[in-house]
Amino acid sequence: MPNLICSAINCLNNIDGLCTARIIHITGKDINSNNKTYCNTFRYRTLKNSLTNLRNTNLLGEIKQIFNKDSIVMSPKITCEINRCGYNFRGECISLKVQIYGINCNSDQCTECETFNEGNF
Ligand code: SF4
Ligand code: SF4
Repeated sequence: MPNLICSAINCLNNIDGLCTARIIHITGKDINSNNKTYCNTFRYRTLKNSLTNLRNTNLLGEIKQIFNKDSIVMSPKITCEINRCGYNFRGECISLKVQIYGINCNSDQCTECETFNEGNF
């Protein structure tokens, strides 16, 4: 699973730039066009959302993180609909590192997969 860094600190899955979700889903407004990508798993941080989101929390990853502060161990599985990205293999992201942009974002469509690359690998 890829190491994932994310700047969407308003997302309830984000702790210190790491994503605590077990699985995230990347999509786009029109996946076959050049429209930008976004993280469909973004949830705006409210108390109610925090309590209802526990099922998609990577609790094992969070525990590992407590004991291993030196390296990034939060690694959600990434499903992805962006077939034109070279890192997409049968709907899953195979990049070893993924960076999601989301500074000041209040909704999923403000975020973006910065690792998207149209090349073939
Ligand atoms: S925006 Fe997506 S990648 Fe970033 S913390 Fe939220 S769920 Fe995780
Ligand atoms: S790098 Fe490509 S395959 Fe991986 S999540 Fe981003 S757009 Fe999807």
